[in-house]
Amino acid sequence: MYIYLFFTIVWGLRLWVWLGIILAMKNDLRPRGERKKAVAEDGIKRVTFSFYKYVKIADPIAFRDELLEKWGELGCFGRIYVAEEGINAQMNCPEANWQQFDAFMKSKPELVGIPYKIAVEEGDDVSFYKLTIKVKDKIVADGLDDDSFDVTNTGEYLTAKEMNQYIDDPDALVVDMRNIYEAEVGHFEGAYCPDVDTFREELAIVPEKLKVHKNKKIALYCTGGIRCEKASAWMKHNGFNDVKHLKGGIIDYKHQVEREGLENKFHGKNFVFDERLGESINDDVISYCHLCSKNKSDIHYHCKNQACHALFLGCDSCLEKKQGYCSYKCMTFDRLPEKMKKILTHNNYRNKPEQFKKHRLKSKRQIGIEI
Ligand SMILES: [Zn+2]
Ligand SMILES: [Zn+2]
Repeated sequence: MYIYLFFTIVWGLRLWVWLGIILAMKNDLRPRGERKKAVAEDGIKRVTFSFYKYVKIADPIAFRDELLEKWGELGCFGRIYVAEEGINAQMNCPEANWQQFDAFMKSKPELVGIPYKIAVEEGDDVSFYKLTIKVKDKIVADGLDDDSFDVTNTGEYLTAKEMNQYIDDPDALVVDMRNIYEAEVGHFEGAYCPDVDTFREELAIVPEKLKVHKNKKIALYCTGGIRCEKASAWMKHNGFNDVKHLKGGIIDYKHQVEREGLENKFHGKNFVFDERLGESINDDVISYCHLCSKNKSDIHYHCKNQACHALFLGCDSCLEKKQGYCSYKCMTFDRLPEKMKKILTHNNYRNKPEQFKKHRLKSKRQIGIEI
């Protein structure tokens, strides 16, 4: 009898909790397109920015809950990772609430003093339209065992001016620590851009590839600097003595170049992981359409076929011809009845068009220098 009562109470409470969560999420349950449209049309001016810090966070779950509540109240959107090792945030905040946001940051010992990297351009698309804060094991997926090397032994920083000197120096080697699809649309003059799809792969192959250049001065760079914190320590651990990295990444490079009137040696677009997919650093377009390989394009699209969703660079003429699909195969497939599409994608692997097995199309051209 008591057991019965106990379970009735516990399950009753659980039901209420779930009901509360569902009600709270009501806004987020709208279809993706609808939510995005509502944010794009709400007329609220937003600042897009990013920041990170390796800092001890004792209780990441409680920390996450607090951020969700506070930043939710302020109308912030973004993708934020919290781990015991720190925080990595890409987000936006309504301009009108910026003071409050900043005051909150200053009130938290874990967050005080972190420099914000304000986006180079806001673009026509809103950068984020919902707030996602996830608790992770690490703030950047690097696949490294942090106990196996000294993660605090990071390389020294390079300013934009010093980066330019490195680019001109034959004894230096500039290495792009981002994925190849990021480097493809924009990179530094004379940079080595490893052909990898993840940061994990990058860390595995770069020390090996650079082995013969151990005595060179190495300059690493990435989007906002976070990947190079870990990567520079990893390179030093692998016997590279002179490893430095660009402070604040490409985002801050652009700001420094403008502020100090320096020559801009970054060509193309800075790939960003939000709805905008890229921000222009200068007017050069250095990449080519993946569908024809002939016309230049630096605009990323996702294939309209939801089962494929491959990321590709497309030129106007190919987009028109293939109607937003990455191939005629995808175009044809998408016109099949829904039931047949389901069967083809889920049950019959062998009949899946080639595109279903990968997430992006690749360029046939060399990106960056060969080493
Ligand atoms: Zn094309
Ligand atoms: Zn496709």
